[in-house]
Amino acid sequence: MPMEAIQLIGTIIPNDLLGNETNVLCYLRNEEKKAKNDFIRLWQEIDSGQAIWSKEIVESVLDWINKKHDEEGTKCEYCDNPMDNAEHTVMNCEKWINEREELNNLLRKKLSVENATILC
Ligand SMILES: [Zn+2]
Repeated sequence: MPMEAIQLIGTIIPNDLLGNETNVLCYLRNEEKKAKNDFIRLWQEIDSGQAIWSKEIVESVLDWINKKHDEEGTKCEYCDNPMDNAEHTVMNCEKWINEREELNNLLRKKLSVENATILC
């Protein structure tokens, strides 16, 4: 799974956008709705390299960010797992078995919560 997809699923701000400090700070502080919307629009419009692949998973960055991932009763739309969060999607979801196996083969180890920093 490309880094851009993992960042998007984990709602981790892409490196391409980190350079715009003003937007990042406004987004993180949630002080200005317009700045947040502009920032999310920029994130949505990234269309270079592996980011295109990410959009196969998450069509709308805004919808994904606003989705309540950790609430009880929010089940995975692919496998009906009762908890849909980034850890489930990246580490456990049945939908992504083939992609996870491909990643593990590239890494030459099984990706886990404990060693996930190898992706950074
Ligand atoms: Zn699932």
